[in-house]
Amino acid sequence: MAGPIATGPMSAEEAGASASPLRRIKLSDQIAEDLCRRIARERMEPGQRLPNEQKLMQHYGCAKGTIREALKALEVQGLVAMRPGPNGGAEIRPVSIDAAAQQLRRFLHFRRLDFAQVYAVRRELEVALGLDVAGRLDAEALQRLEENILACEAAFAAGEHARGRSLELTFHDLLCDASDNALLAFMCRFINSLLRDLVEFQGSATEYAAFGAHNLESHRQLVSAFRAKDAEAVGRIMQEHMCCAEHYMRRLDASFRRDLLSGR
Ligand SMILES: [Zn+2]
Repeated sequence: MAGPIATGPMSAEEAGASASPLRRIKLSDQIAEDLCRRIARERMEPGQRLPNEQKLMQHYGCAKGTIREALKALEVQGLVAMRPGPNGGAEIRPVSIDAAAQQLRRFLHFRRLDFAQVYAVRRELEVALGLDVAGRLDAEALQRLEENILACEAAFAAGEHARGRSLELTFHDLLCDASDNALLAFMCRFINSLLRDLVEFQGSATEYAAFGAHNLESHRQLVSAFRAKDAEAVGRIMQEHMCCAEHYMRRLDASFRRDLLSGR
């Protein structure tokens, strides 16, 4: 069967032989894109394999190097992993959250994202997430939230503010775990990771302590509302919590590091 880009009697590789190197790179990109469409069309799942190199060469009418380049592009994107050996080949992988988040960070790097913009989105999404998981948290999930609050209290009591802040964000990551809305959970988790990695504080120890105390109190109230399966209360408490958190972070002179490329 001829591939969608192998047209006419001349193979795509032959046609590209006299073109610039850019043309040849483009051919492998076209093949990579066609393989993506095939994975979607045939509803292929992680663990399944694409046809081997020989079959792909025949299908697209091009040389081994071009196929390898296309597969390499998919591997870099995290969509396949190359398996060695006689039965080896390109195995489909679920794209990891880290790979997706890294791409989004790189996209945002040159967009001059600031702290207020991040909070404008976070305010809305965290409330939506709270409502989404309000009736969904089982005993185990509630216990994890309570353990997180205890760990957070211990960190603040020991004066370990950075650790306390990281644990505070973990509370919100635990809510993501309970959601079955993959997009909402991804966006909330992504924002948590930005705040964890990129926000720097210059405030005093007293202000830090006040912020920590506010967070803990909000989290305790949220767990009570989750236990009661009271979605209305969850929405209200989360909204207040987000507004207060933004206010405290401003007082702490939180600044956003500019480097989203390396993540640090
Ligand atoms: Zn919080």
